[in-house]
Amino acid sequence: MNSESKPVVTRFAPSPTGFMHVGSVRTALFAWLFAKKNNGTFILRIEDTDKEREVEGSIEHIIKSLKWLGITWQEGPDIGGPHGPYIQSQRLESYKKYAQILVDKGLAYADPYTKEQLDEFRKKSEESKKPFLYREYRPENPPAWDGTQPLRIKAEVKSHAWTDLVRGELTAGEEAIDDFILIKSDGYPTYNFAHIIDDLEMGVTHILRADEFISSTPKFLSVYDALGIDRPAFATLPPIMGPDGKKKLGKRDGAKDVLDYKNEGVLPEAMMNFLALIGWNPGTEQEVFSQEDLIKTFDISKIQVSGGKFNEEKLKWFNKEYITMLPKETVIAEVKKRLDAKKELSQDMLEKITPIILERIHTFGEISAMIETGEIDYVFAAPEYKTEMLYWKGTVDTDATSRRLQKVIELIETVDENNFKKDIIKDALWNYATEEGKGEVLWPTRVSLSGKDKSPDPFVLAELLGKEETIIRLKRALEKVAHVS
Ligand code: GLU
Repeated sequence: MNSESKPVVTRFAPSPTGFMHVGSVRTALFAWLFAKKNNGTFILRIEDTDKEREVEGSIEHIIKSLKWLGITWQEGPDIGGPHGPYIQSQRLESYKKYAQILVDKGLAYADPYTKEQLDEFRKKSEESKKPFLYREYRPENPPAWDGTQPLRIKAEVKSHAWTDLVRGELTAGEEAIDDFILIKSDGYPTYNFAHIIDDLEMGVTHILRADEFISSTPKFLSVYDALGIDRPAFATLPPIMGPDGKKKLGKRDGAKDVLDYKNEGVLPEAMMNFLALIGWNPGTEQEVFSQEDLIKTFDISKIQVSGGKFNEEKLKWFNKEYITMLPKETVIAEVKKRLDAKKELSQDMLEKITPIILERIHTFGEISAMIETGEIDYVFAAPEYKTEMLYWKGTVDTDATSRRLQKVIELIETVDENNFKKDIIKDALWNYATEEGKGEVLWPTRVSLSGKDKSPDPFVLAELLGKEETIIRLKRALEKVAHVS
């Protein structure tokens, strides 16, 4: 085997069985990064030989998900290429050809048994407390293979040793060897056989895949040996664990469709950066990597053996980092898109509310949630609130509250409306607030402007609303208090 000197070819080979969860995407990402890093070729291949598990629309979904992340391929079902087709169900002739080679070599045979006979064999093994191995019942004179019976490999019974670029030297004993099915009676190959033929014909040099395939590797090795072909290099990726690091990622912790994250407003750059660091790290403190950085730094030897944690909080952290790096206009456009659903705001208001919103979110999707909870209702209209809210610490003190609001209005009147900035507004109010009591003055001011017990401070709110609206809302509060007394 000498896969090192050949140009690198990797592939991502999903089965179209539903949505693309983050684990699959991470596999695609690592295989892509490795190809990019080595100026190699990255292939997308669809493994659809299990027709019963197929879910309609999956291929489009896979393509959409990868494209969203920015993962690109040089060969694939949508763009073709020199080794096509790239969908297994369209490659049946290739599998037949190699199956026939094995039949001719005497290394594959038609399975002559009925289901009942097989059940009988299984029962026998059970009774003798031995694991059932098909190879112990190899027929002496198998019928000619006409495609209606399953075709099984006649596996060489021996132990295997192989190198895994992540896990090192691995071995498996004879007990792992059996005569498994290469071609099913429906004419479709099994995964165990098909992927090997595809990798061979497509010139794949490195297979990066999930750890669930490691126990099947002895089977794969039986096929490489029987065909007398070189094995590609194997790299087994670590499992993705839930945030506690104890069990594999479940739906509850975020093993969801990667496009759900898109819909939640996660940026593809953040997702890529986040996924790249699950089970891999360059051994430095660096966390934020652009796509080019990742390609430059990616190194198979730094992939961990043990599981990598999937922590949605960390994804949010990355997303915030990436939002901060976006051009201002892009951010405003994203904010606008969501606020417009409630009410169209002026450009001036949008520019002012954007930094306030950004402080409070990790994804753009959270803006919609903010609107739904009413958290930023004060942006769209003068707030509705109970008069009692205006009293500091709930102490009903109408005279004092009126007096303070009145004073605040007076002080705000002194601020130039063309320079109505939070620092200047603060300067105008600060002395008075310090003398009278900060809570006593700033609390009713803030409630007048936002109608909320939690909101940005009153100076920020005043700048956001502008002088005219600030005074209108303060006067409204004053009237509410007066009305009560
Ligand atoms: N079709 C397999 C899957 O969907 C891919 C395994 C491989 O990469 O060889 O999990």
